Formats: sequence, structure tokens, C-alpha cells
Amino acid sequence: VQCHGVSVSSRNDVMSKTRMPHYRFPRPSTGAVRAVIALLQPPGSCKAFTRSGSSYPPLGLCQLAATVQGRGNNLSPVIDADGEGWSDETTLKHILSMRPKAVGMSVTSGTKQLCERWGAMLKREAQPSPLRVVLGGPEASMDPRGVLTSCPSADAVVRGEAEVIFPELVDRLLEDMPLQGLRGVLERSQEGPELPELLRVPKGGFPSLPFPALNDLPVHRYWCPDAVRSPMVTFHSTRGCPFKCGFCASPELLGKKVRGWGVEDVLDELEWLVQEKGVKEVSFVDDVFTAIPRRTQALCEGMVQRELGLSWFCNARADQVNARLADAMAAAGCHQVYIGMESGDPEMLKFISKGAKLPTLERGAALLGAAGVKRSVGFVIGLPGETDETVSRSIELAKRVKPERIQFSRWTPLAGSPLVKAGYGRTEGGDAGFHDRLAEDQVSRWLARCYSECWGDGWGKTSV
Ligand code: SF4
Repeated sequence: VQCHGVSVSSRNDVMSKTRMPHYRFPRPSTGAVRAVIALLQPPGSCKAFTRSGSSYPPLGLCQLAATVQGRGNNLSPVIDADGEGWSDETTLKHILSMRPKAVGMSVTSGTKQLCERWGAMLKREAQPSPLRVVLGGPEASMDPRGVLTSCPSADAVVRGEAEVIFPELVDRLLEDMPLQGLRGVLERSQEGPELPELLRVPKGGFPSLPFPALNDLPVHRYWCPDAVRSPMVTFHSTRGCPFKCGFCASPELLGKKVRGWGVEDVLDELEWLVQEKGVKEVSFVDDVFTAIPRRTQALCEGMVQRELGLSWFCNARADQVNARLADAMAAAGCHQVYIGMESGDPEMLKFISKGAKLPTLERGAALLGAAGVKRSVGFVIGLPGETDETVSRSIELAKRVKPERIQFSRWTPLAGSPLVKAGYGRTEGGDAGFHDRLAEDQVSRWLARCYSECWGDGWGKTSV
């Protein structure tokens, strides 16, 4: 069957022309049926990027699982050992009891070592049965060879949105076939300098793509300090960002075109989460929730009309917010918006191609504040060309905006970001990091100064 240009198994009844919400599918059976690929969020995953004890569902893995859930077998169970709070021992026992042919994990720059530890351990413990380790996620997408080098236990990596080929990947694993030749996949044994394509769900592919399968996850345990209620889940309603901020790899990873489910489909899914899972809080993890302002407006109005009663927070561009949108967001339950201001220095904003000027950003932040939405404002410190003066301007901007929360982050040269592509910030070996300790110490001093000058007068509590 050819569907949106993707060859899929005829047994895959998910990618049909009509979107089948995951709740219409039979729940996967558990226990006796052998899993083909266990999708694992290992213990300690969330600690790799947050110090607050936050716990998030493994949304990407759930998205993969959803594409084969209709087959009726427990082909690709999602095991959120981190969310469950399981020990290594419990996790290991649980996975081995499923006798999977493969384990899949999502790798970020912070979880490479963790994924390698689990890949190696599971392979060792599964013996004499062979077990394949397949890695995906942002780091595998942007730096597939680097991930294969850092993670010797990995047999293959998948670049981009693996849901595009996941049903076929499961078929191949089921038949013990090699993954080589599958779109987006780089097997360890594969020779040659060429990288496989970065997979993307086409814009027209969303109506037939089921929402992530959160069915068996410990939804009641998900939490982060930005949430005001629980249970909380994360929700990715659109992917992609048309902007090109120099430090950000997101448009490279998820594309410059905004793609996503239709407003009514999103509202249906939110309604299901509220009614069936008791969800009260949503963290929208779209890169820019306001990327298409009229869509955001319609979504907010729909949330009010359907009386979903959710509280939620999101990422937005302050320059896209007008008074009408700010009011609609607040009325729909939005209590906090994360806004990247990045720098208070106009030249720095130009250098990183922020695509917005300071007065516009300040006005958007003020409108959100006036609508009763808390602003969590982010700055990036240590960008190329940063000086004491540019840092001072960022502090001055923070003091003018007086956001309820504030975050100064160290610039990390991300693979795939425009600055790294232009040659800034990576060592010859390709490792993220500064060229010398001096630069790093300087950034630490700047960060300490930013926080010390922006704390203590009733605003600027940090987000973690
Ligand atoms: S920082 Fe935000 S607005 Fe800028 S490119 Fe990244 S996702 Fe887009």
C-alpha cells in the first residue's frame, strides 16, 4: 500500500485515509505476547535535562507505538520506566519478560550515555537471544554517525520522524530482516558517506496519523513546576518553525513549514484526554504555539466552546501576540507562556536572526501580562560576540519586562543550528562545547551575575 508516498504494510490499518483516533483501537494485550520492539524511556531520562524532578511522557515513543497499535498485538509497548519511578532492576526484568527482538530509545544530547548504558545492559542480559538496539530522537537525527560512535551498542539509528516508516520497521524486525535500505535508517554496518534522509510526516499526512498512544502510561505521575494542576501531559499539536534563530536546531530537525493536526482533531484528542484519562493540565510542546496565530485563536475558542476546563502553558513568540490572541489564550486556560527574548542587545538579536525587534517583543510580553498570563522569559548567554555590555542589556531588558519567571541559559552549540553550521562553537571533533575553559568560566560568571541582579524583588523566579 502506498500512503502519502510511504510504503506501508497492508496490515497497517492506521495510515488509512481517515484518521483513526487511538482510543478506537483495541488496547494492546500485555503479558504473554512477545514484543517486537520495546520502546523504552530509561530510568533517569528526565533528570538529564531538568533539575526539578519533572517527569514527562515519552511523547515521541508513544507516537511510534500509535502507528501499529491497531494490529491488536503488543508489538511495540512503550515502557516509561522513568515515569513509573522504576529501579534499574525492575525495568530490566520487565523488558526481558517481553522477550523483545529490539529495543528503541530516543536520544538527546543529554541522554547518549544513558541510552548506551541501557542498550549494552539489555543486549548482555538478553543473551543468548539476540537483541537489536535502534535509536532515534533529536541527536540521532542531527548527528547519526556521532550517535553510532558514542553508543557502540546501537545497531541502527533513525533520522527524523520515524513514525513515517515505523510500521515497516516493525515488519522487518518481526521477520529478522536487516533495516538497511529503509528510509531514514542508518545501520552500523552501512558503508559510505551519505546520510539517510531526514524523515518528515508530510503536511497532508496528519489527518491519517493517530495521536501518541498514552494508554498504558502513568499519566497521574507526570508533572513539572510550570504546571498548576495534575495530571499533566505534554501535547505536540504542530511541528516545525518558520523562524531561523541562530542557536536553535529545531527548524532543521522538524522543518521550516508548520505541520500538524487540524484544530478539530486536536480538540477531539484533548477532550478524550480530559474525559478518559482525567487530564487537567497540558504542556503544549509545539516549538511555537502561536506560529499560525489564527489557528491558535481558533483552538483557544474551541477549548472554551467545548468547556474543556484545562489549564495549560506553551511556547510562543511575543512578536506574534496581539491583544485579541492574548485574551483568547487566557480565556482558554493558558496560565503561562514561555517567551524566548534571547538578548537585550539589538545587534545580538540581528546576529542570531531573531526576526523581531525589542519593542515588539516587549509589547507582546506586556499584552500577555495584561491578559493575566504569566510570562516565563528566556535569555541565551554566551553567544558568539557576547560581552559585559550585551549581558548588561539583557539584564536591563529583564528588569523592564519583569517576567514572573526568568531563565538565563548557557548557549549550547547544537548540531544543525545555523550558528554551528556557520562554524561557531564546535571543536574539530564535532563535540558540543566551548573551545577553552576560559570562555566557559566567563559564561558562568555572566550567568551568576544575571541571576543575582534579577532576583529578589518579587519577580523573576526561575523556571527549571
Ligand atoms: S528559537 Fe523558537 S522561534 Fe526561534 S527558530 Fe527555534 S523554535 Fe523557532
